[in-house]
Amino acid sequence: MIDMEDEISLCEQAAGRARQLEARGDFAGAAKAYREAAECMLRYASGVQGKPSEDSKLLAEQLLKKALSCKARQEQPAAADGPALTPPVGDEKRETDKSVQTAETGDPAANSGTFAGSNRSAISRDLKHYNGAARKASAASIEGSVFRPEPPTGVRFSDIAGLEEVKRQVRLKLIEPLKHPELYKRFDKSTNGGILLYGPPGTGKTMIARAVTEEAGLDLFSVCGSDIIGSRFGDGERNLRALFDAARASRHAMIFCDEFEVLAPKRGGRSTVMNRLVPELLMQMDGFVKAEGTLIVMAATNRPWDLDTAVLRPPRISHRIYVGLPDFEARKFLLMHHLEKVPRQFPLDYDWLAVELEGCNCADVVAFVEMLKEPSIQRGLNTGRDEQYLLPEDIDEVLEAFHPSVQAADLEALSRWEASQA
Ligand code: ADP
Repeated sequence: MIDMEDEISLCEQAAGRARQLEARGDFAGAAKAYREAAECMLRYASGVQGKPSEDSKLLAEQLLKKALSCKARQEQPAAADGPALTPPVGDEKRETDKSVQTAETGDPAANSGTFAGSNRSAISRDLKHYNGAARKASAASIEGSVFRPEPPTGVRFSDIAGLEEVKRQVRLKLIEPLKHPELYKRFDKSTNGGILLYGPPGTGKTMIARAVTEEAGLDLFSVCGSDIIGSRFGDGERNLRALFDAARASRHAMIFCDEFEVLAPKRGGRSTVMNRLVPELLMQMDGFVKAEGTLIVMAATNRPWDLDTAVLRPPRISHRIYVGLPDFEARKFLLMHHLEKVPRQFPLDYDWLAVELEGCNCADVVAFVEMLKEPSIQRGLNTGRDEQYLLPEDIDEVLEAFHPSVQAADLEALSRWEASQA
């Protein structure tokens, strides 16, 4: 018979020990302790309900992810000439997270084609073993429960490939009301309410949030659902309050929550954490739209069907916008932009390449270009001569090994949800 209280306190003790070891730089010890904490959490969950509840599983995943990240940091010196496992911030970090996300699709080819590196696939395998939906780390700065706006990224709408209708909608609903309040007032047009961006991953939802805040001059508080939930009981509510307080204090801010379904899942299950957290979120969102200043919520998800319906009602979320895969022109734009400075001595047929990459999301196209650079660099390293060029055969080879990370099943699920909302 499992003593539940013991499991919780063992979990907390192990997590506390792990944090201390991590702070001291003992990553091997920290990885072990985080893993212990994750195992306690899973035992607790199975003892309570016969099968892991969603929130306990999430907490366990968080802990496991910490364990894996510590393990990676411990192994880093040995893999000095391999790819960095835990890049510090920004896009590089997001790309690492994407590799984990790709593994979630269950397509090993997608992983091997797009993201080389045995450590990365080992981490992905481990995460899959725990049936974990590993979460993207947030770009927002969270220290304890203190939230700070993301430093300006300089992303503009003109940097975003395709998505013309999405950009028009976002401008009309979020940016223009701030610039032309009289016009909106004249038509008594409601400007309240947040926006939900939904669609496959890697299509530019986060970029849109960044561009909105850049163009509207707002502070961006960018978080991931799993960051808010945290790894200890009570973290979720504490973090939510701190996030909304920080954004309110700025008075001109947008909260962008990626993986919104993690924070606002359908209620009704036995998950005590979520049954407490979702009402807190609803309360915070209601208070937020009424507070003084320019305060906007934007949320993003790949799994809109998992969202609590109360969260999707106006004025919390008043608009839902689908952010889809890039069309031919958008893929061509991305290829031209990212290949512009790659040295080569032959005319590149961008139209042909854009057709070849049909089915890829934008992040895949960017990753593809990164892969294209590798053979030339490898030749340079092998020969000791820097004067290398991209060759036509490099493109053929990389194309052969490359697989889009978005699966048809993901798109079908999105399309079914969209139809169900009509
Ligand atoms: P999402 O939030 O939809 O998962 P992101 O906005 O985080 O996707 O995109 C991840 C990366 O992919 C970006 O940093 C960028 O390099 C590239 N990317 C994605 N969508 C676009 C786009 N529409 N235009 C240009 N680059 C894009």
